[in-house]
Amino acid sequence: MKKYRSRLENAQGFGEVWEIVKDTVKSSLDERRVGMMLFLDDLPLRLGAYHPLGTNNIVLNRALVHIVEVATKSKLLVNAFVYILLLHEYLHALGRPSEAQVRPLAYKISRQSFGEDHIATKLAEMGPWSLLKDIPIDVIDVPKRVMEIVKDFERATERYIV
Ligand SMILES: [Zn+2]
Repeated sequence: MKKYRSRLENAQGFGEVWEIVKDTVKSSLDERRVGMMLFLDDLPLRLGAYHPLGTNNIVLNRALVHIVEVATKSKLLVNAFVYILLLHEYLHALGRPSEAQVRPLAYKISRQSFGEDHIATKLAEMGPWSLLKDIPIDVIDVPKRVMEIVKDFERATERYIV
């Protein structure tokens, strides 16, 4: 638990948080799906992330993360927010289409990985939007950038060996 807490606190960027998602799911459920690709795009703000069914892709709303960054100025909050969004979509990608299944499971995995009192566990319990409820998000400027792919450490290593 301590290990995951400090990894989440210190994670530099989306790729490292994404690795923590995969590792905590492996620890809690003994499940892993290889070859998933993470994309970043600036999407409408009511959308956190999505997994297009039948693909290996998860798309994260970079604009929304930008707002959390500007509003909270806290790396831990940003990382916890990204973690919960990605964990949710990853659980869908692991073959659980229903929200009723994914939400309690995301809470359970967060609690096992970070502890009951941790912000990630709270966001899993109350929903990641709870972080934004007191923030006037329309006043924050959001750039519209092109979609980008996050380097996958797993695949990068494979390619290196090949
Ligand atoms: Zn969902």
